[in-house]
Amino acid sequence: MLRDGRGGRLILGNWKMHGSIKENRELMRRLLEGAEALPATVALGVCVPFPYLAQARELLYASDISWGAQDVSCHAQGAYTGEVSAQMLCDFGATWVLVGHSERRTMHGETSAQVAEKAQKALKRGLTPVVCVGESYKAHEDGAALEVIREQLKPILALGAEQVSKMVIAYEPIWAIGTGLTATPEQAQTVHAYIRSLLEAIGVSELFILYGGSVKPDNAASLFAMPDINGALVGGASLDAKDFLAIANAGLK
Ligand code: PEP
Repeated sequence: MLRDGRGGRLILGNWKMHGSIKENRELMRRLLEGAEALPATVALGVCVPFPYLAQARELLYASDISWGAQDVSCHAQGAYTGEVSAQMLCDFGATWVLVGHSERRTMHGETSAQVAEKAQKALKRGLTPVVCVGESYKAHEDGAALEVIREQLKPILALGAEQVSKMVIAYEPIWAIGTGLTATPEQAQTVHAYIRSLLEAIGVSELFILYGGSVKPDNAASLFAMPDINGALVGGASLDAKDFLAIANAGLK
């Protein structure tokens, strides 16, 4: 597994609430076929709905494709109906867990402080939290994107370099998620460079910073050409093996 953003590319799929045992089997079969041709510098993973973690483990176990979940509880265990703990994700061999996806922040009222607690719980069990941040359309229009990102990252950065250096950050402008609108590579690079500067300020010099928001085979290469974009968190296009693999390979010779 690649450990940081130095030259490597990390491509993670977020299946959201999609899939079935039958569909997943076919999707993963096709991913396994295509992943064999990926260069060693590209790492591929899928973040599946909780009930499919066992299937992901069964089908991907012997491969280089890693898997994970889309959320985790900020509690370790106890009377928290409906919650899933970091230890439970470990029981299914998960590598990744998304925390703070905008759909969790906006639909479930997750705060940045809770997101940091989730990230901590994940780290404690050896999972890699993929911390999602991103501004609304209004903040984007108002030119307040960097301010929003700084606020969202504040409790994460407060955890300190040792913990933060084991995370992945995903910049996902809310206005670009599932909308077909994508930040231009230059817009995304500006935010990624800013995130990089915040990380450097606490002593973290190398980290994967992924871009997410309507990444498709035809826009991926120009995003990956940016110096601070180290890969992608892919929603819709990760449900199509051909598109997901094309994104993973985009711009590679
Ligand atoms: C996401 O859900 O994280 C995402 C980026 O979705 P999409 O690629 O569909 O915009």
